[in-house]
Amino acid sequence: MRREALDVVVIGAGQAGLAVARELRRTSLSFTVLDAQEGPGGAWRQAWDSLRLFSPARWSSLPGFLMPGGETGAPSRDEVIAYLTEYERRYALPVERPVRVHAVWADGEALRLETSAGPYTARFVVSATGSWDAPFIPEVPGRELFQGRQLHSAHYHTPVEFAGQRVVIVGGGNSGAQLVAEVSRVATVTWATLTPPRFLPDDVDGRVLFDAATQRYRAQQAGVPFEAPSLGDIVVVPSVREARERGVLHAQSMFVAITERGVVWQGGQEEAFDAVIWCTGFRPALRHLAPLGVLEEDGRVQVKGSRAVKESRLWLVGYGNWTGFASATLIGVGRSARATVQEIVGEQTHLDPLETH
Ligand code: FAD
Repeated sequence: MRREALDVVVIGAGQAGLAVARELRRTSLSFTVLDAQEGPGGAWRQAWDSLRLFSPARWSSLPGFLMPGGETGAPSRDEVIAYLTEYERRYALPVERPVRVHAVWADGEALRLETSAGPYTARFVVSATGSWDAPFIPEVPGRELFQGRQLHSAHYHTPVEFAGQRVVIVGGGNSGAQLVAEVSRVATVTWATLTPPRFLPDDVDGRVLFDAATQRYRAQQAGVPFEAPSLGDIVVVPSVREARERGVLHAQSMFVAITERGVVWQGGQEEAFDAVIWCTGFRPALRHLAPLGVLEEDGRVQVKGSRAVKESRLWLVGYGNWTGFASATLIGVGRSARATVQEIVGEQTHLDPLETH
């Protein structure tokens, strides 16, 4: 297939990809956004039915256009999807979907992309593929033996399908706490965590965390020590508070093995379960970058700012603090997006047009 060579291809149209696309719209660069989903919303399309943001809309917005909803309440999954849908429309962002990028590789002056919609050629690539496509489940002896149901929180939608069952939920972060809260309403739930879960004070939400993280970032820049609450702690959203009042938020130390029927606890006793739900996090979804030779052993890419060290025509936006401060949040990703596009504009001013192949 012949297709015009572009200045930039953005991979992924979640919140990070859209923030980059909006910045690119304000330049003269030619670009497109390739997204594997059937419709707008990125990872939020996969989230469970009851998932709500940690912060009111006012603190959960991308640059340029505030999410409706104001300063109270936490927007629902569907409200975030509606917001991202409107964001694309409002800025006429050129998103092509569903298009999955299988591989990116260097070919002389150009970067080539192999995709489910055929080949693309670009001078620069911004990867904004998030982590929802790469759920992480730890190695636990016997995991493959279990005859019940196992699923990751990435594929969990509603508690109804566990009604009346014995369920073990693994993981001491926000996903684990929120799923314990809702599944325990219909099933007998045991919560297993590596270390005892740590709950933030009831009046701390995403907004406070973001402010604290901003202060920590500024202190780091200035070389001054600063103590802030860890972002990994559990936010006591209304459903978690209600579960605490019901007395179901007690965690046990992680089990040591899985059998055909259930799990083996540290003391050696076996307990039967119908289902295991893994709330054990995600890794960055970066397999498509393997042909560029940039993937490190830890599955990440070495970056300076958001730019890949080993491939100077590649940027990574989103993913977490390692690619830009608070870049995995709606409110934080705008800064990384802006810096990335500024770097691309700086690069492209002294280059000749690419040949189309
Ligand atoms: P994604 O939203 O994952 O978008 C990436 C897109 O790229 C997807 O559409 C994906 O299909 C596509 N893609 C992936 N691989 C390819 C490929 N090879 N080719 C083409 N397309 C590809 N964030 C907040 O800001 N505020 C909150 O309050 C908040 N609360 C959360 C609560 C919970 C319990 C959880 C689990 C997450 C929460 N998050 C919150 C985090 C948020 O969901 C993610 O960090 C965010 O969706 C990441 O955005 P992204 O654009 O980087 O990636």
